[in-house]
Amino acid sequence: MKTDILVIGGGIAGISAAARLAPEASVTVLEAETMIGHHSSGRSAAIFIRNYGNATLRALNAASAPFLNAPEGVSETSLLSPRGEMLVATEADLPHYEAYLDGSDGLERLSARQAQELVPILRADVIAAAAIEWDAQDIDVDRMLQGFARLLRAHGGRIVNNARVQSIARRDGIWTVTTPAGEFSAPIVINAAGGWADQLAEMAGVRALGLQPLRRSAALIPAPEGHDINRWPLFANASDQWYAKPEAGKLMISPAEEDPVEPHDVWVDDMVLAEGLHRFEHAVTIPVTRVEHSWAGMRTFAPDRTPVVGFAPEVDGFVWLAGQGGYGMQTAPALSQLAADLCLGRRSALDPKVVGALDPARTSIQSQQG
Ligand SMILES: Cc1cc2nc3c(=O)[nH]c(=O)nc-3n(C[C@H](O)[C@H](O)[C@H](O)COP(=O)(O)OP(=O)(O)OC[C@H]3O[C@@H](n4cnc5c(N)ncnc54)[C@H](O)[C@@H]3O)c2cc1C
Repeated sequence: MKTDILVIGGGIAGISAAARLAPEASVTVLEAETMIGHHSSGRSAAIFIRNYGNATLRALNAASAPFLNAPEGVSETSLLSPRGEMLVATEADLPHYEAYLDGSDGLERLSARQAQELVPILRADVIAAAAIEWDAQDIDVDRMLQGFARLLRAHGGRIVNNARVQSIARRDGIWTVTTPAGEFSAPIVINAAGGWADQLAEMAGVRALGLQPLRRSAALIPAPEGHDINRWPLFANASDQWYAKPEAGKLMISPAEEDPVEPHDVWVDDMVLAEGLHRFEHAVTIPVTRVEHSWAGMRTFAPDRTPVVGFAPEVDGFVWLAGQGGYGMQTAPALSQLAADLCLGRRSALDPKVVGALDPARTSIQSQQG
């Protein structure tokens, strides 16, 4: 099966990049699982936070916002809806809190009482400081993923499930990729394999970049009795000890852990979840008596915690689209556009400094590799 571009990985990264390319090129997405979005992209907290991440990520957040608001070709209505993100800090969290506010735009400082008015289960007596980003928004992540998949197919692109890539070899300017679903070839391969991106690169003879999947878990508990939680903002401890968010009438709580794992179909570590719920209970007036559902996913980071997008420096036709960490849903519009522009030889609308910061040849990654 010959195409112009093979995309490996049917998460939001691979599907969105393929959809952007499809009007101009023949594109095939190879996904190991029986359906798209089975790994990280189906397990996120689905929030858009403008101030989340380093300067490069904030530029990508800003560049993605217009598309998320008016996702032409993907959905007729905005993918965003109002939520807000409130940070709460105990005395011990104040250095983290001040550091976050220092580099942030548009956050409003709140008193403990104001924080408690927004989320009445918070214990005002342990809040030393609070702040809110009003325009943090929920992302309809399923609509985004399925919308990009529809756009891809509408332009003749293909998604092949049950196609775990087993080998990749390049000969005479063409990559040949073998999978249980057959053999595929193309001059360009995009590595959008999420937590497996380094393994996939090594399979192709491309140097791994030190991408590290970090497990993050979440649990759903019933809404606290007597509260209408739907309008509560996401509320988070300023030192990343836990965060909580209304989710379809329930309360989602995450221990906000970053535990390194080998790439796999990751599951919750019961002890890590229990400890996180315990930290959450210290901040609120309700006990956590029942977990209705829990899950975990991988957030995969490069050593400098900045995504990696661009052609590998050492071989032709191998494009990285990986290392999206905890920002892969909210930055997908900008990163997919950049990946498509690079593949098609178009100039990116992003600031060249941002494009350079994402380049797999950047010094912050290469120097870590010695
Ligand atoms: C608990 C949690 C909360 C999060 N919250 C947010 C949030 O609020 N906002 C936000 O923006 N981001 C959030 N994220 C991060 C976001 O989910 C990820 O950055 C994003 O999903 C990464 O997308 P991806 O396509 O790179 O990876 P994935 O969705 O994991 O897709 C990679 C795909 O590659 C496939 N694959 C791997 N190896 C092969 C192979 N050899 N052959 C074929 N296919 C292969 C896998 O099966 C997988 O489907 C969160 C993540 C977690 C875990």
